[in-house]
Amino acid sequence: RSTRDYQQLDAAHHINAFLDQKTLNLDGPRVMARGQGVYLWDNDGNQYLDGMSGLWCTNIGYGRQDLVAAATRQLEQLSYYNTFFHTTHPAVNALSERLFSLLPAGYSHVIYTNSGSEANEVLIRTVRRYWDLMGQPNKKIFIGRHNGYHGSTVGSASLGGMQFMHEMGDLPIPNVVHIGEPYWYAHGGQLSPEEFGRRCAQELEDKILALGAEKVAAFVAEPFQGAGGMIFPPQSYWPEIQRICRQYDVLLCADEVIGGFGRTGEWFAHEHFGFQPDTISIAKGLTSGYIPMGGLVLSRRLGEALVEHGGVFAHGLTYAGHPVAAAVALANLDALQGEGIVSRVKTDTGPYLQACLREVFDRHPLVGEIQGTGLVAALQFCQDKATRRRFANESDITWRCHRLGFEEGVIIRSTLGRMIMAPALVISHGEIDELIAKTKRAVDRTAQELGL
Ligand code: PLP
Repeated sequence: RSTRDYQQLDAAHHINAFLDQKTLNLDGPRVMARGQGVYLWDNDGNQYLDGMSGLWCTNIGYGRQDLVAAATRQLEQLSYYNTFFHTTHPAVNALSERLFSLLPAGYSHVIYTNSGSEANEVLIRTVRRYWDLMGQPNKKIFIGRHNGYHGSTVGSASLGGMQFMHEMGDLPIPNVVHIGEPYWYAHGGQLSPEEFGRRCAQELEDKILALGAEKVAAFVAEPFQGAGGMIFPPQSYWPEIQRICRQYDVLLCADEVIGGFGRTGEWFAHEHFGFQPDTISIAKGLTSGYIPMGGLVLSRRLGEALVEHGGVFAHGLTYAGHPVAAAVALANLDALQGEGIVSRVKTDTGPYLQACLREVFDRHPLVGEIQGTGLVAALQFCQDKATRRRFANESDITWRCHRLGFEEGVIIRSTLGRMIMAPALVISHGEIDELIAKTKRAVDRTAQELGL
């Protein structure tokens, strides 16, 4: 079938995510047909270097036959069974054993899900259940952050702070409030990044005090904000947030759906930032996107409370801990660990990407700030480097750059005034060079169109 056929079928029947459906007829979506390593090919055979590893999820890269074999073996052995009532299965137990061997000490249990959104739905119920069991049923309020992203379902989109999502469907749900994001470039004013980081953390303390600590259940945030701009908080931020959460007995919940499984060069992003959350939401890189799977990891405090005092937790998903997903996740973690891929991100490919980006874009007139670590990075677009003035229509500009990227054969993403990249963790130095060269051409063309 031709690309046009696929585009017409898409336009006729498919509600695409985060896209104005009417534009499909004008400029159909690219039809991706094949992937290998860090590359994708569309239906017409055009090759793209995928600088975003899908939706920051194909950490192991495309086309790994060991993951395919693990899925096939499991499908033949036990294609489905659940973990309800009095049953379990070897695949899910083997995965849990591996997962807890990779997590730092202090975590004991996981509730599996099929996605990151579900992990955060489970978070809401689990945290509420925990405080009920602890005899503090009034601890009901969740504090999230403006422009945080935790998923698209009712609860997860409520925890998230995307205004345009809240406007669709009366969100957030009750008992969810938000504080500002630690986005120094946009909101830092005359403060140094470190002063600004402390001020943002102070906002959490002020909010807890205003609401009453006895009513606040948890603070939920991404260690580095992803979909809402790929924002790295100043170093002063997380230690202070942790201090505040501990002081007021507010649970600290890290959404590691993007940050987990090696993205920063550590297995989990909270290790990079040096804090210890009470819960960790995972998905994406757990299976490298080969098959859907997520989960909510619980600290020993929560895990043991649920087990010791909880009785039956009235929660369950038919496909949670699915044997095929678990087998794929285990094969993925085997490869990420056994082939030294995560440690290479820390010592080799990550530093190389970051150094190259700074060399190429530090003096670029369109780029006001470069942030990132490991294999995740953002280029902040600006109108004036000296004053940090941003474009009024910055999203239009970054989406234009994204499209020019396609023309140059690279996939880089636009988020709220920033161009971001998060390639597969298997990327080589040569491929990083190509990613940066193609990104530079897209950014240069964007700057030219703007007359910069
Ligand atoms: N949390 C974060 C930080 C995410 O970036 C995402 C998705 O991008 C989600 C949660 C939702 O995950 P899913 O799309 O698997 O539901």
